[in-house]
Amino acid sequence: MARKYNFCAGPAALPEPVLEQARAELSDWQGRGLSVMEMSHRSKEFVEIAARAERDFRDLLNIGDDYAVLFLQGGASQQFACVPLNLIGPDANGKERVADYVNTGQWSTKAIKEAKRYGKVNVAASSEDTNFSTVPAFDTWRLSDNAAYLHYTPNETIGGVEFSFIPEVKAPLVVDMSSTILSRPMDVNKFGLIYAGAQKNIGPAGLTIVIVRKDLLGHALPSCPTMLDYKVAADNDSMYNTPPTFAWYLAGLVFQWLKGIGGLGAMGELNQRKSDKLYHYIDNSGFYRNPVEKQSRSQMNVPFVLADDKLDKPFLAGAEEAGLLNLAGHRSVGGMRASIYNAVPEAAVDALIAYMQDFARKNG
Ligand code: PMP
Repeated sequence: MARKYNFCAGPAALPEPVLEQARAELSDWQGRGLSVMEMSHRSKEFVEIAARAERDFRDLLNIGDDYAVLFLQGGASQQFACVPLNLIGPDANGKERVADYVNTGQWSTKAIKEAKRYGKVNVAASSEDTNFSTVPAFDTWRLSDNAAYLHYTPNETIGGVEFSFIPEVKAPLVVDMSSTILSRPMDVNKFGLIYAGAQKNIGPAGLTIVIVRKDLLGHALPSCPTMLDYKVAADNDSMYNTPPTFAWYLAGLVFQWLKGIGGLGAMGELNQRKSDKLYHYIDNSGFYRNPVEKQSRSQMNVPFVLADDKLDKPFLAGAEEAGLLNLAGHRSVGGMRASIYNAVPEAAVDALIAYMQDFARKNG
């Protein structure tokens, strides 16, 4: 069976060695006579798998003991509610607080809409006026004096827009890193809370990771459901109820794979090379175009349009024939999008560029 190149935005490509290892131990994990899927989450075996995954994840991102790492369910979308439910409560003097949000695309728009159900939201900046093709300049943001937190989306997966800076503000930074986490080194200490759905750079769908500074735990609104309270998850090692055990195990294999290839430094260099190549080709093609301002282009999600959108269908059909899968843009925006996450090899980007060149020559 020949594996094809998969440019899906999520659930996304997984590293082949990880899939192979999972296959090898699928029905009999390390000679214990049963699959990880069949183990009690309270068993010694699974607790060991879970702890190792957390340790490796902490190592990769250099996460200190002042942060809790939570392995949750519900996807990043559930975090749109969890964040305000846990963090938007009154300050130490009982005074109501506001949450600041920056709107740079469809995912931040959803996060804002959800947060408004639980408290006061101030949209400090928005790039809606540029059709979300930019990141609003930091000096234009209208921040609140006593914000409970500032939420933004460092990488908008649909628009392919990425922040080139980390804002320096008083309030804890809360970020949706679903589509950039583990793609390069980063300083976790700059953030109060980081969340990410797993199905891009972490593992299969069904798992969501939250990294939260411990002083932010224990302030959930009284109405917060038990299952959405970060402190409950932290106090129970993410096993208040049955966690997504197989996804957690597979994420652990991805972390070991990442460590094996040299960690996030090596990963970051490779990802930089992949995206540089692709943008360079698009910009000089005279046939394809990326709509995002240059300094805000995403390294993981590269949207592009063809010279004539009547060519979209033949482009996608030809790509599929060439073994290049899932290049259609998000259903809401059309065009194309190549998501080039960690597990998408450089050879996939080379093959994509070769196909694009060939298509442009025949149709330009
Ligand atoms: N935020 C971002 C940045 C995303 O890319 C996605 C999914 N593509 C989501 C949130 C929603 O994630 P989920 O489907 O896990 O709820």
